[in-house]
Amino acid sequence: MHVTTLLDDTSFAEPAPSALLLLGQGRDLASERGVECAGALPSPSDPDLVDRARAARAALGERAFVLGHHYQRDEVIAFADVTGDSFKLAREAAARPEAEYVIFCGVHFMAESADILTADSQQVVLPDLAAGCSMADMAAIAQVEEAWAVLEDVGVAEDTTPVTYMNSSAAIKAFTGRHGGTVCTSSNAQVALRWAFDQVGGVDGTGKVLFLPDQHLGRNTAVQQLGMSLDDCVVYDPRKPLGGLTEQQLRDARMILWRGHCSVHGRFSARNVEEVRAKVPGVNVLVHPECKHEVVTAADMVGSTEYIIRVLDAAEPGSAWAIGTELNLVRRLAHAHPDKQVHYLDSTVCFCSTMNRIDLPHLVWAMESLVEGRVVNRIVVDPDDAHWARVALDQMLALPGI
Ligand code: SF4
Repeated sequence: MHVTTLLDDTSFAEPAPSALLLLGQGRDLASERGVECAGALPSPSDPDLVDRARAARAALGERAFVLGHHYQRDEVIAFADVTGDSFKLAREAAARPEAEYVIFCGVHFMAESADILTADSQQVVLPDLAAGCSMADMAAIAQVEEAWAVLEDVGVAEDTTPVTYMNSSAAIKAFTGRHGGTVCTSSNAQVALRWAFDQVGGVDGTGKVLFLPDQHLGRNTAVQQLGMSLDDCVVYDPRKPLGGLTEQQLRDARMILWRGHCSVHGRFSARNVEEVRAKVPGVNVLVHPECKHEVVTAADMVGSTEYIIRVLDAAEPGSAWAIGTELNLVRRLAHAHPDKQVHYLDSTVCFCSTMNRIDLPHLVWAMESLVEGRVVNRIVVDPDDAHWARVALDQMLALPGI
């Protein structure tokens, strides 16, 4: 295995509008923010932890289905029945109607999507309720409703289709469903955006898309895949009047990008790319589209986590790769491909801190509780939101090539 990192001192992402709550400090179910864990967790140093996990998993048998997101820790992935990105996992959950419990080792918005897509009889469990997503947290439903009212006041709402990234709360997905929009993933953003523009006159027309909550995925897709210019894009800051824009800017824009970003992928910079090219001649730079525009334009290849995995699988032995995505995944790729050089694009720690909140003690606690007949940390989406979020998700599933 060969993993290296490169130094970077300039790639700090812009600050999130609000910090995650500290564990055990309160509950905020209206957002993706962390909430306390009610359980008596096993100690991480318990020497029997792995045996306890194996025993609980065996006792649950087919009554439970364990999903593991690619960014989860190895100790958790070891117990996953299937691994994948958020969309693949939600579909996998929906395809297992025999499983009474869906144990989602990922973050809150993913477990919400699983709850929306699974049968009412199935219960979705998130082993640690503090596993939120800082990007999803950057778009609160009240802010989005307010922004839509601004677009109505300016007279552009009826020419605007909302599109939300999978990485958003169920309430935001429901908002897009109510307003004739759709959901997208990093794999299908191009198809989803093209569809969204078709609802308001086409990519070459004058209609708009309100893209939530990741400005980078929206910008990268519009510019790199739909041929728009950076001038077609504006960033809407929910903390400022009119989103920090003028009415004319809102009228002229084609892509209204929400001011949100991933705190993990937002750390990579063009300088990281320059440095790895200088250090590793012939290196292929492969990054996720949640990275900043300067990074995806400097990279050789851009794609979702599933795409990154496929590219590495197909790569020639001896080839060199610098990967810009979450570190747990990159480390696993390096282990899986000892015949290739796998470099990490940044030297600073780029784990997703909220993903990492799910660890073996939380998984053991959740599974042992289920064995004892107690359903803990169940994720239940409000029925009206679930209905409209389902409308938006079904719209995405109906897109060509999905
Ligand atoms: S990697 Fe980024 S988008 Fe994904 S869960 Fe973590 S903070 Fe959210």
